[in-house]
Amino acid sequence: MELRRTVQVKLDVDESDEERLRETFRAFREACQCTVDYAWDNRTDEGQIDTRKTWLHKQTYDDIKEQTGLNTGLIQKARDYAVDALEQVISRWKEGEQATKPTFGSWFVAYDYRTITYTDEGCTLATKNGRVQADFVIDETGENPQTEYLSEKWERKEATLHHRDGNYYLHISVVKEEDVGETESGTSPSGSLDGSQISDLRTVLGVDLNSTGSFAVTSTGRFVGSTDHINHERDEYESRRASLQQNGSRRAHEVIERIGDRFSRWSNQKLHEWANEVVEEAVRYDCSTIVFEELDGIRNHISNNKEFQQWAFNQFVAFVEYKAEEYGVSVESVNPEYTSQTCSRCGHTERSNRRTKHDFECRECGYSVDADYNASKNVGLRYVRRVQKPDDGRATCQLALNSGTLKPSEGSSSTERLEVEYTDKPCTSTAD
Ligand SMILES: [Zn+2]
Repeated sequence: MELRRTVQVKLDVDESDEERLRETFRAFREACQCTVDYAWDNRTDEGQIDTRKTWLHKQTYDDIKEQTGLNTGLIQKARDYAVDALEQVISRWKEGEQATKPTFGSWFVAYDYRTITYTDEGCTLATKNGRVQADFVIDETGENPQTEYLSEKWERKEATLHHRDGNYYLHISVVKEEDVGETESGTSPSGSLDGSQISDLRTVLGVDLNSTGSFAVTSTGRFVGSTDHINHERDEYESRRASLQQNGSRRAHEVIERIGDRFSRWSNQKLHEWANEVVEEAVRYDCSTIVFEELDGIRNHISNNKEFQQWAFNQFVAFVEYKAEEYGVSVESVNPEYTSQTCSRCGHTERSNRRTKHDFECRECGYSVDADYNASKNVGLRYVRRVQKPDDGRATCQLALNSGTLKPSEGSSSTERLEVEYTDKPCTSTAD
């Protein structure tokens, strides 16, 4: 079985290379747009769009090359994205919906084996004007998921480059062959090697849900789904619904119902897939419990953005509960206070630890890590602290990490400090 993951890694880009990257972002977006424009302007008399890649290549390659200065590999990637966008439009038309010409707003560049080369410490990226070398920024001290996914065990494939908060990030697709035996052994609950020692030791998977970026991030460093994607689809749906409502005809009303059903099927399907990924992760790491932050109550999902978000979170957790039950895995929740501001390594809590939406850097110990990943470990640790029996010298509960597990009574300095920190923090339910 092939396992595929996406690892996000920050890049250390030399200031002198930034202009070349900026130009490349602009050129890539232009190449996507030019391809779409060409296909759009050359629809058949019946209004059909020709999305054959070889045809589009022949028709547009020379012009785009001259206009953008990009190399062949990047032009072809841009064309692939353009074709995807056009095919989404075509499928909407088939459903009897309206859809207008796609426009490319976001800033990204897509790379494949022709345009990115990975090195031990980083990569070189094709730009409009030669290659740019960039190192990965990785915190080596923690049990960072990047350390695992960027290890030799995983093969690095295509990637997309993004620019946000003034930083460059590479989202690398990594794959690993896993034999079936290895997967199955993961499903037997807390093995029978040494029953008396292990049987009452519970392993928990912490999960953080997010309103931007990845939908869910696990304490084992798995980034699941995309909140941005479902929000974007919902916005599209809402704007079409609004314009149909102005029309007011009976036919418009029917279309509203149809696109409503379709959006609801689509979003439920996505949430299902992502829920399965989280349960799969729990099973793989032999976890008996999946822990989320407590959510607000069930909402009506079409009234506004915030409510849609809450609806999606609740629906997702319900799907996880349902699926987890099959494997004898329970689902629990903890108080969400401070999980995004607390350092999962030393326990220090300060608002400014969270530098941006995606960057966490501890003011106390300097731990620098993806903010959502940090939060997911806090969610799990909070639960571990809650169920750990205070007088029991040995651990009864531990947190699943990508590099192993974290037990509160292990006695390492960082977990010692965590204990102090977490007993000081308010917790809604204080079992034992
Ligand atoms: Zn810290």
